[in-house]
Amino acid sequence: MGAQTNGSFGEHERQHSRDNVRTTIGHQSLKNDHVRKSLVERYRHGKMGLMELPDRTVCYRALQGRDARFDGLIFVGVSSTGVYCRPICPARTPKFEYCSFYASAAAAQEAGFRPCLRCRPETAPHLASWRGTFNTVSRALALIEEGALDGFENNVEKLAARVGVGERQLRRLFLQHLGASPISVAQTRRVLFAKQLIHDTHMSMAEIASAAGFSSPRRFNETFLELFRRPPRTLRKRNARIEGENEQGAKAKKVVLQLRYRPPYDWNSILAFLEARAIAGVEIIEDGRYLRTIELEGAIGSIEVAHIPKQQGVEVAILFPKVKSLPAIVARVRRLFDLGANIDTIDQHLSADLALASLIRQRPGLRAPGGWDGFEIAIRAVLGQQISVAAARQLAGQLVEAHGLLVPKEFRNHPSLSHVFPDARRLASAFSIRLRMPAARLATLKAISEATVADPGLFHPLGGIEETVARLKTIRGIGEWTAQYIALRAVRESDAFPATDVGLLRGAASIDGGMKVSPETLLVRAESWRPWRAYAAQHLWAADAATSKSSAPA
Ligand SMILES: [Zn+2]
Repeated sequence: MGAQTNGSFGEHERQHSRDNVRTTIGHQSLKNDHVRKSLVERYRHGKMGLMELPDRTVCYRALQGRDARFDGLIFVGVSSTGVYCRPICPARTPKFEYCSFYASAAAAQEAGFRPCLRCRPETAPHLASWRGTFNTVSRALALIEEGALDGFENNVEKLAARVGVGERQLRRLFLQHLGASPISVAQTRRVLFAKQLIHDTHMSMAEIASAAGFSSPRRFNETFLELFRRPPRTLRKRNARIEGENEQGAKAKKVVLQLRYRPPYDWNSILAFLEARAIAGVEIIEDGRYLRTIELEGAIGSIEVAHIPKQQGVEVAILFPKVKSLPAIVARVRRLFDLGANIDTIDQHLSADLALASLIRQRPGLRAPGGWDGFEIAIRAVLGQQISVAAARQLAGQLVEAHGLLVPKEFRNHPSLSHVFPDARRLASAFSIRLRMPAARLATLKAISEATVADPGLFHPLGGIEETVARLKTIRGIGEWTAQYIALRAVRESDAFPATDVGLLRGAASIDGGMKVSPETLLVRAESWRPWRAYAAQHLWAADAATSKSSAPA
């Protein structure tokens, strides 16, 4: 048995899941390295499902070798200690017979294991957030990350409706791909996030309970007592981070967290992309770090993101008045920096096209940058219609100056970051947007604002890429290019591909020896890049930017 389920499932479901595992894993003998290698390759290529773990012996060797390629992909439960670990755990490798392997932290936790205090499974890369091929599951996971199953008013039925399937089907898909139910995934998320806050911050236990989405401090306490057999505060080490407390006053406590990714990660490229588009007053790139102001659930603050290549992650410093918003802020940072990408799978898939392969060799680990906020990206996309990146950036700065709210002093992390990007409600109700641009485009800005106010879920994924694009195109003034661009950066569609984009076409021409390429030809060629066309687009833009002065849009 390569994967395990536990007794909390119905008997029928358990049988079903075990059968699945048996048929996909089979009883292969993995004594020789050739077989092992091909299995690892298949696994990394995404040809095996999430729940379809490699054979136990493969998993065990990954553990023995502390193989970072498996970090985030498998978790090991150790029956002699009752803890579960990342494959890279520095602790002594447990005996083979004590180990069982899981495709998700939730599955290990559901099987009764508690998170290891040394390798800290809560810091493993979150790979499930953008897997592309398991759309429904990855969308539901993204919503859970933002707290869709926290609080009394939320439940699995509502979550299922949001991703467009029935409740039973959602449970079945979770079981199949993650080996755990949506509820236990949410519970695991709360525990792991709380654990990270205990270790890495100086927040009070009450704040942590609230930030992690527990219904009460009591519930938080009970959960930790049950899992670790001791109260949460005793997990805190003395060297917990305290930053900004003294000089900023008690009201603005800085919370500093590390978020991991799977290497390689092309930090310089993503930073260059964001820098070319940084809006004055809202964003700035300084000393290799990204700083910006944020507005969320009616509150205003700021974040600062730095690369820590040694830890294979980024460090995010958050200044924000509402602790309850922390999970949503962290989820947005992960999306913005595309930390969840299973990048070697994507790079290998795209490398099948030899021209792309050479681009990938030049920029291994190039990510598809997301946006901080869907509405903001949509507005920027329209501002960027038919004009250069620099000109669009200038317009965005004027928009912020005219309509953005001021950031309170104690929540500023940089003297020049003074405003937040205006939200949909403000622009929708503005008497006039007052920007020097064609009236039709001003009307589109208004139309997007009104559509966002009417449907706050406008930039959440629904169905496939075609559906997402079609829905966006119902807004007046949004054509194919703008819709694809919004899908790519705001909705995080891994398969979005604005084929008519000038920079993209130039990039495509440059890899084909300078021959002019039409959008139609490019689309045909891009068929084999699915479901990762967004990454191919990023490589083509980068290739274009390297050969010409003007570059990608918005
Ligand atoms: Zn461990």
